[in-house]
Amino acid sequence: MKTVECPYCREINHSSAPEIMSGCAYCGGSFAEICTENQTLVVLDRNKASAWELAEDLMAEWLEHGELEKEAIVDRRLGNEKVEDSDRRKYPSGLPRTLHMV
Ligand SMILES: [Zn+2]
Repeated sequence: MKTVECPYCREINHSSAPEIMSGCAYCGGSFAEICTENQTLVVLDRNKASAWELAEDLMAEWLEHGELEKEAIVDRRLGNEKVEDSDRRKYPSGLPRTLHMV
């Protein structure tokens, strides 16, 4: 189990697969946290009206704290299960398409 901080309510969640979008145990907001060799991506739910603003706020906060390896992104695929399924086949790692553009 890994611990991940919810980007919405800041509560600590425990997850065995934080890289898969799932709801926060406290506020129910969907997010994922993907760790690569030199980067941590926090994926926000684009169905949240404030997702883009939150992403900017988080980035500014991490910059302030010197957490330069962290990046907040908004998942553009949420709400379209079919696209997500075909993405999974194309990318067996289960990582979102955005990661491949970094
Ligand atoms: Zn939460």
